[in-house]
Amino acid sequence: MSDAVISSAYSQILDVIGSVEPRIAAATRQELADQRESLKLIASENYASPAVLLTMGTWFSDKYAEGTIGHRFYAGCQNVDTVETVAAEHARELFGAPYAYVQPHSGIDANLVAYWSILAHRVESPGLAKLGAKNVNELSEADWESLRHEFGNQRLLGMSLDAGGHLTHGFRPNISGKMFHQQQYGTDPETGLLDYDAVAAKAREFKPLILVAGYSAYPRRVDFAKMREIADEVGATLMVDMAHFAGLVAGKVFTGDEDPVPHAHIVTTTTHKSLRGPRGGMVLAQEEFAGDVDRGCPMVLGGPLSHMMAAKAVALAEARTEEFRGYAQRIADNAKSLADGFLSRGADLVTGGTDNHLVLLDVSSFGLTGRQAESALLDAGIVTNRNSVPNDANGAWYTSGVRLGTPALTTRGFGHGEFDRVAELIVDVLGSTQPGTTKAGGPSKASYVTGDGVAAKVKDASSELLDKHPLYPGLNLS
Ligand SMILES: *Cc1c(COP(=O)(O)O)cnc(C)c1O
Repeated sequence: MSDAVISSAYSQILDVIGSVEPRIAAATRQELADQRESLKLIASENYASPAVLLTMGTWFSDKYAEGTIGHRFYAGCQNVDTVETVAAEHARELFGAPYAYVQPHSGIDANLVAYWSILAHRVESPGLAKLGAKNVNELSEADWESLRHEFGNQRLLGMSLDAGGHLTHGFRPNISGKMFHQQQYGTDPETGLLDYDAVAAKAREFKPLILVAGYSAYPRRVDFAKMREIADEVGATLMVDMAHFAGLVAGKVFTGDEDPVPHAHIVTTTTHKSLRGPRGGMVLAQEEFAGDVDRGCPMVLGGPLSHMMAAKAVALAEARTEEFRGYAQRIADNAKSLADGFLSRGADLVTGGTDNHLVLLDVSSFGLTGRQAESALLDAGIVTNRNSVPNDANGAWYTSGVRLGTPALTTRGFGHGEFDRVAELIVDVLGSTQPGTTKAGGPSKASYVTGDGVAAKVKDASSELLDKHPLYPGLNLS
């Protein structure tokens, strides 16, 4: 489709939306303008292709299709069956997974499906056998009570939030921290790196049912073969949450021991981060878990979002191409350029660098909290998110770090030189920012003062970079 056709289609679509609720049409236009004009360094965000975006906005949204392919609780699901079949087929082939379940609405949903599948597989079925029942329909209320007791006291070992793990890996306020008896592993206090011997020691002592690997803010690769060895030794199921780095797995940047799919029993992911698809989740599983994963609906999910499954199929088709492999490699190369740009200017990085798609900048050497750094950078048109560093002295709200990722700007075409310049601009802003003062006269953790004119100057410099690499080039809304 030509640029003119896409531009005209989107303009007309926005007119239709605007005729019903003008504020939504206006916000949609403004969002494009804002995304075009900011340096997006949020490690979990990206820009999906026009094909993926267009696939989301269709009448598949109108269809109910609870159940699984060919086995639905609603009539008329033949086209949804096609959509789900194609998406699952692409996912299996792309990742080399025996089984793929593409219904989860988000990464969190995918993790809930995986947790309950593991519980069903490891606890419910043996529990049923112990109770002399063949299936759940034969259980009495008292049987359920005893099963619930067994379910509720299972152990989960995941990476701690401040070491880079995710809320859903057993963090207390999340349901994963409430439904499991949980413990966490961290990183080495000296190097910031995962210490597999320490993880193994903890696993031997705690004997988890589930060992979770994967992260949101750890700037290094993980040896999943080692993680599987640890899980096997203690009889745990290895679940890997590759939400952040699925694009690097799809693009064959992570192979061998760094590819989770052949090593884990179950792999979960989002589809909208480095994988560059629509917002959503997926579960990949070894054959023995397939039947349990298929019970995601009705166990955890309601009706699947068929329009989103269709967009997942389109994004996965894109991720199978040579072009995507090149993109994935550039994500990692660019993260190195960004890291080198910081290190050569004397900034501190957690673990001293990166070998994936993100860097974690420790801003305490600038005398700032993560919150101050995040806000000062936003004033200069640089969008990041504050993030804890290991053993963070400023806690999870103010933090001492800023997380920066390369997937989004790599989609726009940024390369080595641009990322080095991005590091320079960030150091310029942070180097000329000071903490403000509290009412009592001490240093504030939230307010800050940036030197006169610095934010405006950096904004101009980043506009120059962004103008060279337009977002959705050719898309001109009338
Ligand atoms: C982003 C993320 C999730 C959650 O994804 P949502 O789609 O926001 O629910 C889960 N796990 C990890 C490791 C993540 O980084």
